[in-house]
Amino acid sequence: MEQMKYNLEKRFLHGGDYNPDQWLDYPEVLQKDLALMDKAKANTFSLGIFAWSTLEPEEGVFHFEWLDKMIDDIAQNGGNVILATPSGARPAWMSQKYPEVLRTNGQREKMRHGGRHNHCFSSPIYREKVARINRKLAERYHDHPALLMWHISNEYSGECHCDLCQENFRQWVKRKYQTLDAVNQAWWGPFWSHTITDWSQIESPSPIGEMQVHGLNLDWRRFVTDQTIDFYEHEIKDIRSLSPNVPITTNFMADTYDLIPFQSLDYGKFAQHVDIISWDCYPAWHNDWETTADLASKVGFINDQYRSLKQQPFLIMESTPSGVNWHDVNKTKRPGMHMLSSMQFLAHGSDSNLYFQWRKSRGSSEKFHGAVVDHDNDENNRVFKDVAEVGNALEHIKEIKGKNKEAKVAIVYDWDNNWALNDAQGFGLQSKRYPQTLQEHYRYFWQNDIAVDVITPTQDFSTYDLVIVPMLYLITEDTMTKLQDYTKNGGTLVATYLTGYVNETDLAYLNGWPQALQDLFGIAVKETDALYPKQSNKLAFAGASFEVQDYCSILDNHDAEVLATYEEDFYAQSPSVTKHPFGAGTAYYIGARTKADFLGVFYDQIIGTLGLANPWVKQGHPAVSVQQRGSNHYFVMNFSEESQEICVASEGIDLIKKESTMQEIQLAPYEVKVIRTTDV
Ligand SMILES: [Zn+2]
Repeated sequence: MEQMKYNLEKRFLHGGDYNPDQWLDYPEVLQKDLALMDKAKANTFSLGIFAWSTLEPEEGVFHFEWLDKMIDDIAQNGGNVILATPSGARPAWMSQKYPEVLRTNGQREKMRHGGRHNHCFSSPIYREKVARINRKLAERYHDHPALLMWHISNEYSGECHCDLCQENFRQWVKRKYQTLDAVNQAWWGPFWSHTITDWSQIESPSPIGEMQVHGLNLDWRRFVTDQTIDFYEHEIKDIRSLSPNVPITTNFMADTYDLIPFQSLDYGKFAQHVDIISWDCYPAWHNDWETTADLASKVGFINDQYRSLKQQPFLIMESTPSGVNWHDVNKTKRPGMHMLSSMQFLAHGSDSNLYFQWRKSRGSSEKFHGAVVDHDNDENNRVFKDVAEVGNALEHIKEIKGKNKEAKVAIVYDWDNNWALNDAQGFGLQSKRYPQTLQEHYRYFWQNDIAVDVITPTQDFSTYDLVIVPMLYLITEDTMTKLQDYTKNGGTLVATYLTGYVNETDLAYLNGWPQALQDLFGIAVKETDALYPKQSNKLAFAGASFEVQDYCSILDNHDAEVLATYEEDFYAQSPSVTKHPFGAGTAYYIGARTKADFLGVFYDQIIGTLGLANPWVKQGHPAVSVQQRGSNHYFVMNFSEESQEICVASEGIDLIKKESTMQEIQLAPYEVKVIRTTDV
């Protein structure tokens, strides 16, 4: 991809989703947009995401003239276009003429036309229609000077249970297992008489059918990921051959207010098929259940995770300059938060701050979703001014674009494990909170300004000094070997309760806790006690007592050093936290769900031993996040409603305000400084 436009673009991308197709009867609005883009310092626009009914109003009748003009106008303005394929929503004529394109839900009900993201991934007709319009877009625009990148579909998600998808699932199962005997073994067939005797008996999980065969559920989730990727690969086939130098992405998502990794697709797999990770980030700033710093830590986690998927800078494809329209309460950002939250994306490796949306639609569900341009059609309002201010700042700090982040600490997240844990009937049904547990471990490092990668078990561990593997309930033989090798070669490993229960197909390990883990940690897990929400235990560690909740594993100590013991219940005095030398490294096991106070003391010791403290931060503050990009650029961000002061190792220049900075740095509430140090 030599000399591709994306690599030549030296500016951070600033702009967002733009839907001129909604405004073709309002030429004065489109004209105004071009002037406003300039004033907002916006340089990049995603076009055509849901434009199929405008691009192809009747079957085989295509209208590109409006898009030609839009792309030309943006090019004349000096801007870039991220051109989307329209498969996220389709015209009504298609659903009417070809009902097979409609999705079938888990209850086996054929969906009606409407909404979006509701097509069948298998339908040959839908695939043909998508390929045709994508090819036309690629043929027409592949060498347009404004084309920066392809945006494939939108927020791929969901699943289809129609007959075509059932057959594809059967073929997938057949390829994986070869024989029915192997399927029955993997899925534990005789349980509740679920042995299958013919391939045609295999069906996707359904609330009106089978939901209790965990191996089936897990394989269905894997199939849905593979099928979605297959659909994506189908979408990009002609685009790739017609524009080999234009990178391709699709926008990923997060789930829930906690911003946990998207649950429905394995992005670890999907990441291998996109050129650049891009994703849509919508934190609920100023909510009433957590501090700004606690939420900022979660934002840091998910951005570090999506950066780590490819270990390269990513893009924020969507964010909002004010509120969204789908939270329970859609609060607007307080003064200062737009700059701070925008800079945080960059601090964790984003090369963009793109918005959904450029302009608020006039009707339908997104008419009050935050946008750069409001219904007032004017630049003289707070949100637009905030956006323009960010646009200016991005120009001032553009020397940072493309710089990566380096981390010596990794936390391991696994989509397979998350699916299996959510299925597991046992332990505490409501208290597993696997992704949230990772966030709690991550928070220590965020508060202490230590960079973290969030990786999958298939990624390389060997470059890290510390690898943290919480709750790896589903663990393959390969991963156990990998953890052993990593530790043997000098790594420091931390694992927790609920690790090492089931194999790749969700079958429990036999003959006790896996021998490989016993050897590695010098213990055996004998039982795991689950606690009711109002119950707790305590553990004695480093001369203090720490409350634990939800889970307490009862351990047999073989030859580990006992760092902490339980204080209460029938397992009082027994080990709860252990340390075991293994080869040149060390393996720690935390047997209970501890709180931030314990993790603080525990990780302080490890960080001290390994020398992983951030050398630039002499005196930090838990609500002030310092993130480094490249060798001498630091984002210093105050995620609190009070002024804060920190002390760092060197003086520098705040690139946003073009002011010198001292070693003592004062920050107003929500203030951010982007500092280039002067000692390098
Ligand atoms: Zn289907």
